[in-house]
Amino acid sequence: RGGGRASVPDEQTLAQSRATAGCPKKMQYGPCGGVNHDGRCEVAEHPCTFLEIPTVRWHGSPPADPAPATMRADATGRTAPPAAATVMRERIAAGPIIVADFPATALDAASLHECATILAPSVDAVLAGDSGTARVQFPPAYRAALLRDAGVTPWMGVNARDRNRVALEAEAAALAHADAAGVHCITGDHTRVGSRPDAAPVFDLDSTALAALMADHGHVVSVAEAPLSPPLQERPARLREKQRAGAELCFVNHAGGAAPVARFIQAAQTLGVTMGFIPCVPVIVDAGSAALLRGFTSLALPVGYLDAILAAPDVREAGIEAAVDLAERMLAIPGVVGVDLSGGPAAGAEADFARAEAEIASRLRARLTRDAARP
Ligand code: SF4
Repeated sequence: RGGGRASVPDEQTLAQSRATAGCPKKMQYGPCGGVNHDGRCEVAEHPCTFLEIPTVRWHGSPPADPAPATMRADATGRTAPPAAATVMRERIAAGPIIVADFPATALDAASLHECATILAPSVDAVLAGDSGTARVQFPPAYRAALLRDAGVTPWMGVNARDRNRVALEAEAAALAHADAAGVHCITGDHTRVGSRPDAAPVFDLDSTALAALMADHGHVVSVAEAPLSPPLQERPARLREKQRAGAELCFVNHAGGAAPVARFIQAAQTLGVTMGFIPCVPVIVDAGSAALLRGFTSLALPVGYLDAILAAPDVREAGIEAAVDLAERMLAIPGVVGVDLSGGPAAGAEADFARAEAEIASRLRARLTRDAARP
């Protein structure tokens, strides 16, 4: 049907296109969680290009390239949704879940097995993500299979930095086949700010579009939101768009304690966000885990939290008790359906860190049981 005049993009669409064009991650649904506190881009020496525009509404996955394909895409089959997704939804409906960041050494199946064995009796799932620094790891679906074999429930993080949409679709299918209980969708830190600046950053999709892709494969989809990354006032609206794309759960980044997390959740709920929230609870059990946590993007801990633990006569015990206390406060917030024991070990301390997480989970579970039994 020729002859019609091409539609003229409106101001909002043009502003979004400019923001995407100036973004080193080519984000459609920016800003990412890495915006510096002064508004500077995570990667480049200019302000984040999404700071001055309203939240981009979910309108579908972006086209990869305006050039028409020269051949028809190969026909593909379809994997069944993972059975573990249904089990996890039922588990969440039954009461709060405890998730633990998975601490094993990368590319070390024995370490993975050891940490999984330690954590399996105490947590509902382990969150095993891609590395923020671009460290080489086994692919998510392969790790999910190893974790299942070791007896622990895998909740796998996948980023859009290292894979284009074809590779992400393959990962979605493989994660369903490996029976991942959840898929955590993030855009990913740019390779220029990590340990592999030689690697090409892909960013064919961003976290919002990746959430839609994973939801389409039947996964329980979680996303992250950073309440303290600029623009603060737009973060709840951005989460609402991730929900519209298919996300069911939000892992809330470290935001300075239970009160700021509660404010963020309430603001999101006011905008119509109905998803369940899983706030991060910092796990600090020694100087090594404290140093690792300090490297997290947009980290904010409760005032005095870190110093009080490190100054305690028994740092490990103080860190465990502090995490249990904070987790309990987080779980009292309306809309919170679980907590994520968040952090990581210094090299060589992986199994010990897993034991600390297991201890936190056990003590938290005991407290919740005790509180539930109170008249
Ligand atoms: S801070 Fe993130 S979203 Fe903003 S321009 Fe930089 S990479 Fe893009």
